[in-house]
Amino acid sequence: MAERPNYIKCVATGIVGENVSWCGRRLYAFEWHFMDASHAALNGRAEGRLLTCPECAKAIGTALGIDVDSDRQKKSCDASPAIQSPTP
Ligand SMILES: [Zn+2]
Repeated sequence: MAERPNYIKCVATGIVGENVSWCGRRLYAFEWHFMDASHAALNGRAEGRLLTCPECAKAIGTALGIDVDSDRQKKSCDASPAIQSPTP
C-alpha cells in the first residue's frame, strides 16, 4: 500500500473499546486521528490544515445515506454553503 501524505487523517468511529477508523483500519497507539465524525466535519468546515481520509469520509457518508464525492481536492470557492434539502 502506498504511503499517503501525513496531512490526511482517519476518523475514529468512537465506539468504546474499539480503536478502529471508519474506513476499517485499526488505529495504532498515539496515531493522530479525528476523534469522531463531528470532529472531522468541523475541521472541514473551518478549512483546517488536515484532510479527512477519503475512505473514512465515504464510509461516514454511506452510513448517513449520502453519496460522498471521494475527490476531496475539488474545493468550492462559495463561502456561503447553502443548506440543501434532501433529494427524494
Ligand atoms: Zn480512514
